[in-house]
Amino acid sequence: MAGSRRKERKTEKKMMREKNKKVRGNQDEAEKSRTLSPAEERRLQAFEALSGSMVGQGFRRVELTVSIVKANVFAVVLLIPLLLGGIGLFLLKNREMRGFSGGLGMILFTVALFALIVVHELIHGLSWAIFAEHHWKDIEFGFMKQYLTPYCTCCVPLSKGQYVFGALMPLIVLGILPMLAGILTGSFSVLLMGIIMADAAAGDILIVWKILRYRSGAENIVYMDHPTQAGGVIFEK
Ligand SMILES: [Zn+2]
Repeated sequence: MAGSRRKERKTEKKMMREKNKKVRGNQDEAEKSRTLSPAEERRLQAFEALSGSMVGQGFRRVELTVSIVKANVFAVVLLIPLLLGGIGLFLLKNREMRGFSGGLGMILFTVALFALIVVHELIHGLSWAIFAEHHWKDIEFGFMKQYLTPYCTCCVPLSKGQYVFGALMPLIVLGILPMLAGILTGSFSVLLMGIIMADAAAGDILIVWKILRYRSGAENIVYMDHPTQAGGVIFEK
């Protein structure tokens, strides 16, 4: 008897942990307690007000956020299949690998990479702006100093397809398409650029994976981008 009660308590504790995890998301403590910029504070307040009114209307709030530290670890892991697959296909198609034409090529490549990181965020913004209620006005950009991470966020609700579309567009436009173009045209630097930019979308891939994996039986579901963390928040009823 005592043993089975202990087991029950254990299961209860486990369920509670799971439930808390669902509500709080998967942030590390340092990420949760980081100092927010004034813009982030304002965005968070507006979001909490909206969230309060949604919950008041009977919606349940579920956080599907991704820890930036975990996203970075995933980026390191993802780089291996990207490099092997990308270079493997390149060699199959082109037989030889030509490198950069000297130091200037390397410098231009590095400058282009930094520019493309900004373009990555712009593509998120442009693709969400198509569907957002006030389009471009509902999109905001910023920079998390603590993680040297630029970000783009959509401040209004979207449908699942719209959210996923905006989350994946930078991966497709800056990662997958240049990789294919590099392989088909025999340009190794374009392939490498595509590989690096596909890897830079590791966090987006994790977020989309989480959103797609979440099974909801609710009839009414609204997808919001989290105002201060990577990932989304679902309201369902
Ligand atoms: Zn992104």
